[in-house]
Amino acid sequence: MSVRPKSHLSDKQLSELKDKLLSEAERIRTNFQLKKQEYESNSVTGSKDEVDSANDNILLAADMRFSNRESLYYKKIMKTLSKIESHQYGICDECGENITFSRLIARPTSEMCILCKEESEREESQNFFERRSKSLGREMSVSAH
Ligand SMILES: [Zn+2]
Repeated sequence: MSVRPKSHLSDKQLSELKDKLLSEAERIRTNFQLKKQEYESNSVTGSKDEVDSANDNILLAADMRFSNRESLYYKKIMKTLSKIESHQYGICDECGENITFSRLIARPTSEMCILCKEESEREESQNFFERRSKSLGREMSVSAH
């Protein structure tokens, strides 16, 4: 029998988290479905000419931007569910430590433990300032030419 990595989460905890992820996925799917129906009912005006469909496309594009966040979140949920299937769920991507159940139940798509998450946020804000000052320096040397 092959040994698979044993999750620190109990079966009960895992199924609770899975249920949560599945219902979130369901909620997003329903939202998309409703949005789609909205467009379809709005655009039923007999024969459609090219102007109408151009307008539809503009509306659709605006809505796509709006739901981009949701769609990214949806992808993240799917990724998380596949992690559960492959028994890699609840492990920090950075340090390989267990992510606590209390953190997971609050945010089931967490991929980092709280320590690594805080660390990466600190680095992000540092990089932001470094990038800013670097590009500022470049701009100055470009204008000096
Ligand atoms: Zn970590």
